[in-house]
Amino acid sequence: MKAVAVFPGKPNSLHLTEVPVPAVDDVPQGRGVLVRVLRVGVDGTDKEINAAEYGAAPDGHDFLIIGHESFGKVVGVGPQVSGLQPDDYVVATVRRPGSSPYDRIGTSDMTTDRVYYERGINLLHGYLSEYYVDDSQFIVKVPSGMRKIGVLLEPMSIAEKGLFQAYEIQRRLKIWKPERAAVLGAGTLGLLATLILRLRGLEVTTLARSEPPTPNSELLRAIGARYLSTRHVSLSEAASEHGPFDLIFEATGVSSIAFEGMLALGANGALVLTGISGGDKTIEIAGDRTLLGFVLGNKVAVGSVNANRSYFEMGVQDMALADQSYPGWLERLLTHPVQGLESYAEMMRLLTEEKKAIKVFVEVGEEA
Ligand code: BGC
Ligand code: ZN
Repeated sequence: MKAVAVFPGKPNSLHLTEVPVPAVDDVPQGRGVLVRVLRVGVDGTDKEINAAEYGAAPDGHDFLIIGHESFGKVVGVGPQVSGLQPDDYVVATVRRPGSSPYDRIGTSDMTTDRVYYERGINLLHGYLSEYYVDDSQFIVKVPSGMRKIGVLLEPMSIAEKGLFQAYEIQRRLKIWKPERAAVLGAGTLGLLATLILRLRGLEVTTLARSEPPTPNSELLRAIGARYLSTRHVSLSEAASEHGPFDLIFEATGVSSIAFEGMLALGANGALVLTGISGGDKTIEIAGDRTLLGFVLGNKVAVGSVNANRSYFEMGVQDMALADQSYPGWLERLLTHPVQGLESYAEMMRLLTEEKKAIKVFVEVGEEA
């Protein structure tokens, strides 16, 4: 079968390759699920992998099949699989367990292992191929009514985890009821985090660089969020006008913005950091004021990476809620389809150059 791969460590090595079709029996104990891939979304991580800033090949291979935002249809299941059957729509999680205690209780997203295994990213092949097989415990069923938006479930799971972390931590406050939130960044992740916060009834201010109107600012307006361009308003100005922010979700990966978030956060607030940069920048920050605000305001900041199965399940629920509150909205994020695995070069071009793209994704296969 065809697959799209890179040679990790070699910049711009994206290519089409031929690999054997996997089989249900490749997974031990009868727990295999064979999936025909329908769509795969791509994001900044794929861009960095192709730039050789990130990613590693599986042991014994010199290439890595990329793609971690999957959506597909079950074509076969092993004898021990329950709850999944052929023709079910599914999305696979990304990280696979290592050996830390966190991995052993089903939370490999919280691993303390130095090495982590992520399909399509690090040491395991991904989903940008005609088929994949995996253990049923890593495969999440998606209702058929969500087949048009199922490819957004992986990024959705990242937003769900980050926000869930904040709510978990804030149980320390006994009666925390966040009213105002800021989201930094209006890409796919910022949009999805804003959506979830709006579904929870918060007043949300989302900040990004571009001057409105943009497709992203229009999407935000459609769900009742406020969009501000940082060309006109700084985060601290936004905080004094529209805050205090009980919660800030950082989704730009720009370190200066993340630290500004610490300063702009309200008392008893929580800052969720999800963006990263492959760089090694040193920046200047208002250290004393940030520290003072953090201590006197009992603030918290939390980093959040990846998502385990439970967050994919939360994502399914919130996508169903979104379909009721804002019908058709999620589909509007799917701006740039690319036809077939052969179009991998066009996929990467859109991902790196098309400023108007929200989600670039590959139509891998037709529904049989
Ligand atoms: C993926 C996560 C992954 C992270 C770090 C993100 O793009 O969506 O699943 O944990 O990259 O590799
Ligand atoms: Zn990703």
